[in-house]
Amino acid sequence: MTDTIARLKDAAGLKGWSDDPAEIAPHLKEWRGKYQGESALLLKPDSTEAVSKILAICNETRTAIVPQGGNTGLVGGQIPFDNEIILSLSRMNRIRMVDASGMNMIAEAGATLAAVQNAAAKSDRLFPLSIASEGSATIGGNVSTNAGGVHVLHYGNTRDLVLGVEAVLADGRVLDMLRTLRKDNTGYDLKQLFIGAEGTLGIVTAVALKLFPQPAERVTALIAVRDPQSAIDLLSRLQTATGGAMSAFELMPRLGLEFVLAHIPQTADPLSKPSPWYVLAEASGGANGHLEEAMESALSSSDLITDAVIAKSEAQRTALWKLREAMSEAQKPEGGSIKHDVSVPIKDIPAFLKDGIAAVEKLVPGVRPVPFGHLGDGNIHFNFTVPKNGDNAAFLARWNEIQDAVHDIVNRYHGSISAEHGLGIMKVHEIERYKSAAELDVMRTLKRTLDPNNILNPGKVVAI
Ligand code: ZN
Repeated sequence: MTDTIARLKDAAGLKGWSDDPAEIAPHLKEWRGKYQGESALLLKPDSTEAVSKILAICNETRTAIVPQGGNTGLVGGQIPFDNEIILSLSRMNRIRMVDASGMNMIAEAGATLAAVQNAAAKSDRLFPLSIASEGSATIGGNVSTNAGGVHVLHYGNTRDLVLGVEAVLADGRVLDMLRTLRKDNTGYDLKQLFIGAEGTLGIVTAVALKLFPQPAERVTALIAVRDPQSAIDLLSRLQTATGGAMSAFELMPRLGLEFVLAHIPQTADPLSKPSPWYVLAEASGGANGHLEEAMESALSSSDLITDAVIAKSEAQRTALWKLREAMSEAQKPEGGSIKHDVSVPIKDIPAFLKDGIAAVEKLVPGVRPVPFGHLGDGNIHFNFTVPKNGDNAAFLARWNEIQDAVHDIVNRYHGSISAEHGLGIMKVHEIERYKSAAELDVMRTLKRTLDPNNILNPGKVVAI
C-alpha cells in the first residue's frame, strides 16, 4: 500500500496531493452535516494526463477512489465512506474555449458553475444551468450528477446542455469525446454514460456545453394562488401568452415563506395578504417589452390568481428570487427536516401533494409540510419539518419510515424518487424497490463492464 500511495503521489505531481488531515477534513463531510467520511489521501491532479495515470495505478492495485467536485452534493455521492482516496478535480478549472457564434464552450471539470456562467456572459452568451450552490459546485460535478435547478422548464437539465465529454476510464484510457457538434448520429451516444453516473463509470475531466443567447428581456413575478391546481393551470396559460417563454415556475407554500421571512435577513412579503400558495414565475427571451405586456395582461385577466407583483427593477427581481432561494436554508432554524427530491407528472402534482402530506401527517401528527420547488418540470422538494416543540432526534429517527411512505406514493404516480439530486449512497438501496429487475441488471452490467475492479466510487448509484 505504501508503494501504491507513493506512485499515486508521483502521478498527481508536486502540488497534486495532500495527506494533511487538516486539508483533507473539509472533503469528508457535506454542508448539511448528514454524512461524515474518512480518507488519508487527497489527490488533486491538474491535467487529464495525470488523472489517466492515477486511474491506471488504482485499477492495477485495486485501489478505490471517490471523485469530488465542489462537494455540494446532497446524497453523499462525493463522500469517501470506506477510507477511499479522494480525487478532487478542483485544480482542473480552465475554460478551454468559448465559441460565441457556434454557441458552445469547453470547460474543465473543476471550473465552478459560476465561472462557466461568467465566461459565457463575457461572450454575450448564456449558460442556463442555475442552482443555489453555483458559486462552489463544479461543472464536472454538475455533469456527473446531471444537476437540475430552476431553469429546467425552458432549457432542460444538465444532460440536455452537454454536447461532449472527456472522460477517463477505470483503466486509465482517455475517451476524448469533446465534440461540439449538434448532430452526430454515429451509433451509441457514449457521453450519456458518464452524465448522471456520479463518477461510477469513469471520471469526467472536461465538457463541451451548449450556450444560448442572453435573454433580451426578463420578467419576474410573485403570484399568489389558492392551490397547486391553479398554479398548474396558470403555467399553461402563461406558456400560451408568452409563446413558450416561461423559464422558471417555482411553487412555494405559505409556511415556507414564513420560515424565510422569520429567519433570513432583509426579506419581506411583497404582497399585502397571506396566501396558502405562491408561484415565482419568470419569462425570458423576446425583446421590446412584449413579454412584460404579455405577462401583465395574462395575470390581470386571470381568475386563477388572487394577487401578484411584477418586479420593476433588478433589485426587486433579486428580492423576489431571494424568497425562493432561501427556502432550503430557512428550514434549518426550525429544527429537523426530512427531505425528498421527487418528481411526478405535472398533472398529478395536486393529488400527489394531497396524498403525500396526508400519509406523513398520519405518521407524525403535527408535522409541518414544506413542499416547494420546480412545479414547471414536476420536481417537488417534498420536505417535512419537525412538529413545533417536537423532539428532533425522535423525528429524524423516522426518516426511513417516512421516506418509504412518500416514495411508495411517488411510485404510484409513476414518478421518480430522485428528480435532480442523484442516488449517491442515500438512495442506492431505495432505488432497488422501484426499478425493475431488468433495469437494475443493465445498470450492473454497465458498471461491471466499465469498472470490473469496482474502483470508481464503489457503493454509490448501484450496489453490485
Ligand atoms: Zn431543486
